[in-house]
Amino acid sequence: MATFETEALVLKQFDLGESDRLITLYTREKGKLKAVARGARKGNKSRSGLVLPFSYHNFILYQGKSLAKINHIESIAMNSKLREDLDYMAYASVVSEYIERAGLEDEADQALFSLLVIILEKMAQADREELLFYLTVFKAKLLLLLGVKPEIESCTVCGEKVNLNGSTPLSVEEGGSICKNCFNNNNKYTLFSLNEMRALYKVTFAEISQLKAAQFSANILEKINEITEKFLIYHLDLKPKSLTFLHTIRKMNN
Ligand SMILES: [Zn+2]
Repeated sequence: MATFETEALVLKQFDLGESDRLITLYTREKGKLKAVARGARKGNKSRSGLVLPFSYHNFILYQGKSLAKINHIESIAMNSKLREDLDYMAYASVVSEYIERAGLEDEADQALFSLLVIILEKMAQADREELLFYLTVFKAKLLLLLGVKPEIESCTVCGEKVNLNGSTPLSVEEGGSICKNCFNNNNKYTLFSLNEMRALYKVTFAEISQLKAAQFSANILEKINEITEKFLIYHLDLKPKSLTFLHTIRKMNN
């Protein structure tokens, strides 16, 4: 049993008994990890009271047989906006749940960790209208990291380069574009224009710092949001329960 230090984000928490909380962390050093925050419910005076969903800290943890125990916390970013506003909370919950489902216990993934840190930080600082953009970017990057990004330039059936001028059928089941020669009406597909393909390419491959919500029209964003969600479900069986809540909130706002 050993003590170790790691940065981590709080994915979720449950009340445990009278005064403790059970928290799920995504750590830089050990991937997903469950820990007990003793006395976390006794008010904000306790340092453990800082351990709230979507917050980001440096922890010193003691690894017990099954659960870790928090020895020390130093906050890096509280990301408060993500807990104080229902819209923000809905989006951040979906991001956290994707990581909770995709992240492995006891296995560090620096890229996944960094993606989570950046997206939650961006969301906490974003305007309300930018939240869907950041969720979409997150999903495109998640698909890339998990090895199932949509294939855009080559036909997923024959492997030939696809002419993307005009409209190109993109199939979730096949994993990307289908060229004219291979296309038949039995394929389930969505048509993507050249602009839409470019946008999908950009959110997948560009550095997050190089991307701005204003570069993408609402229609294009909506389309990429849908296709990335479908890819995550079909290829990785990743369908957060919190998506239902987000869909409800989005309907109410429209
Ligand atoms: Zn083909």
